[in-house]
Amino acid sequence: MYILILFGPPGAGKGTQAIKIAQKFSWIHISTGDILRAEVNKGTPLGRQIKTIMEAGKLVSDNLLISIMESVLLRHIGAEGVVLDGFPRTLTQATGLDDMLSRHGKKVNKVLSLKVDEKELTERLLKRAVEQGRTDDTEEVIRHRLVNYHQHTRPLIEYYKGRDLLTEVPGSGSVDDVFDSLCRYINLGNS
Ligand code: AMP
Repeated sequence: MYILILFGPPGAGKGTQAIKIAQKFSWIHISTGDILRAEVNKGTPLGRQIKTIMEAGKLVSDNLLISIMESVLLRHIGAEGVVLDGFPRTLTQATGLDDMLSRHGKKVNKVLSLKVDEKELTERLLKRAVEQGRTDDTEEVIRHRLVNYHQHTRPLIEYYKGRDLLTEVPGSGSVDDVFDSLCRYINLGNS
C-alpha cells in the first residue's frame, strides 16, 4: 500500500488535489476535515464538541485524530494506496501515524508539500467560504488557522525532510498544472 501525505497550509488546495490523485491511481482519499465535518453533521455529543473547536479554527485533540485515523486506515488496509489530506497536523500525530503504520508493517512513502503565499491563501479561503458556506472560513478564523499551521503543522516539514520523504511543490498555478507536478513526484516503485 502506497501511503502519500499531501501537506500544506489551509487553502493550499490539498482537498482538490487529493481527490484528483485518488481518482488517477484508484487510491483511497482520507480527509480528516471531511470525517470531522461528517461527525458534526450527525449532531452527536462528540460532534457538538468538535463543532465548537472547528468553528474557532483550533485543532481537534491528537488522541481523537489518531484513533479516528487508526480505524479508517484499518478499514482500508488492503487498498493499493491512500492519500492523507489534513493529517498529520502535529508532531504527536506524525509519530502516532508512524507507530500505527509500523505495527501493520507499513510506512509513509511520500510527503508532498504544497507551497502557496499567505496573501493568496487568505483570498482563496475567503472565496471558498462563499462557495461552500464553510463556517470556519471567516477572516478571523482563517487567521487563527494559519497561526495554528505555523505553530503546530509547519514543524512537520523538518520532521519529514529528516526522513528524506518530503518534496515541496509550488501550489499557486492552475489546478491541472499543480496536479501534473504532484504526479511527477509520486514514485510508485517506492511502495
Ligand atoms: P480541513 O478541512 O483539513 O481544513 O480541516 C478543518 C478543521 O478540522 C481544522 O481547522 C481543524 O479544526 C479540524 N482538523 C482537521 N484535521 C485535523 C487534524 N489532523 N488535527 C486536528 N484538527 C483537525
